[in-house]
Amino acid sequence: MYYNSINNKLNIKKFSNIFLSNISKNKTLFFPFKIPKIRNKHLNYLKNLNYLDFSFEISKLFLNNIYEEDLYNILYDSYNMKEIIKLEYLFNDNYLLNLNNGPTLTFKDIAMLPLSRLLNFFSLKDKKKYLIFCATSGDTGSSANNSFKDVKNSKIFTFYPFNMISNIQRKQITTLRSKNIFNYSIIGNFDTSQYFVKKIFENINSENNVSLISVNSINWFRIVMQLTYYCYISIKNFNYKNVNFIIPSGNFGNALSAFLAKKMGFPIGKIIPCTNDNFYLDNYIKNNKIENLTLKKTICPSIDISIPSNFSRLINKNFFIKKNINNINNNIYSDKIHNKYIINAIEYFYQQHNKIYDPHTITALSSLFKENSKNQVAVSTSYPIKFIFSIKKIIPNIKIRNNIKNLFFLKENYKIFSQNFHILINSIKKNINV
Ligand SMILES: *Cc1c(COP(=O)(O)O)cnc(C)c1O
Repeated sequence: MYYNSINNKLNIKKFSNIFLSNISKNKTLFFPFKIPKIRNKHLNYLKNLNYLDFSFEISKLFLNNIYEEDLYNILYDSYNMKEIIKLEYLFNDNYLLNLNNGPTLTFKDIAMLPLSRLLNFFSLKDKKKYLIFCATSGDTGSSANNSFKDVKNSKIFTFYPFNMISNIQRKQITTLRSKNIFNYSIIGNFDTSQYFVKKIFENINSENNVSLISVNSINWFRIVMQLTYYCYISIKNFNYKNVNFIIPSGNFGNALSAFLAKKMGFPIGKIIPCTNDNFYLDNYIKNNKIENLTLKKTICPSIDISIPSNFSRLINKNFFIKKNINNINNNIYSDKIHNKYIINAIEYFYQQHNKIYDPHTITALSSLFKENSKNQVAVSTSYPIKFIFSIKKIIPNIKIRNNIKNLFFLKENYKIFSQNFHILINSIKKNINV
């Protein structure tokens, strides 16, 4: 599989080049030269595979420089949990897709686990060390730290906005004990953390045997491992009828993945990213309006993002020659659910259905309930326990599970940094060398 730069058509690279390269330095994102199409005959074969085998068949289409056997082992090692994804029936042929069964209870685990193992594979093969950088709005950090904690030859630097993620999310990030994890709590919002990671990439040179890698949602391998579950679900339960996916969205990586699954030929209808009071994406999709809104703190910290970094991949020339908004609208719709409504909906689902959902999942569920339609799948991206303190304000008598309670007894490891870049980069350089 070959990839093009989205800015410069003549910049053509192989998978391993884009996976292992320093994205900020190139200042461009890459996109498949040609999206692999699945033939109908092949769909019938794929339909009968289990998730592990299915993910192998799909991901290998996007990779090169790796033997199939090695790729299979990486996936086998990553997906050894009982149920990776789970479809839950709601009503009227509508479902909830639970992607939150991984070790850190977020959909990010599904891509991050194989990502860490793939990096380890290349690290051993190329005899190189990788420095992993991650800016997180909450869930990427815990998932990345957990996935990389045992990966030799790597160090992971995780940046999260001070006081802007939930307590449990922070504890999941900071209580993992491993010598190769360094946590930075940055005063500011998610955009500030992301900005600093970009700046670090510009200021630290990759040397011969050490490279800097970003595992943020622009990481292409994450997109590949995410599109896999949309392909899988679309042919498993719906008898080849088009299924709509409603997806809580922040950086637009997950929704972009669904769109690519559709472009590969899987029976997918509408893709509906859902935002909250931070609705840049909604504005753009519905009104073609790019408006920089001030970031608001909401009950859904993981989608409190102002500019979705994957969006430029979508409006790239490969798909939309004139960046024609109607073209996007034939595939990608949009919804926004205001914070107040999310809070009411959490209470509604508890009172009426005796169910507690995480606030991000609630955006998708609320959107699904609004439409009187069939074959819709709302995507559950996280687990309510992570937002227990916000939810307790709405449902006071909710209980905390034991395995989360343990988090409260563990020592946290992080340093708080103000917005002085000089001090920050000195600390990073010191930790790179220890
Ligand atoms: C990361 C995250 C999202 C947003 O996913 P994107 O790929 O950035 O759009 C949504 N919900 C939760 C809980 C998340 O952690």
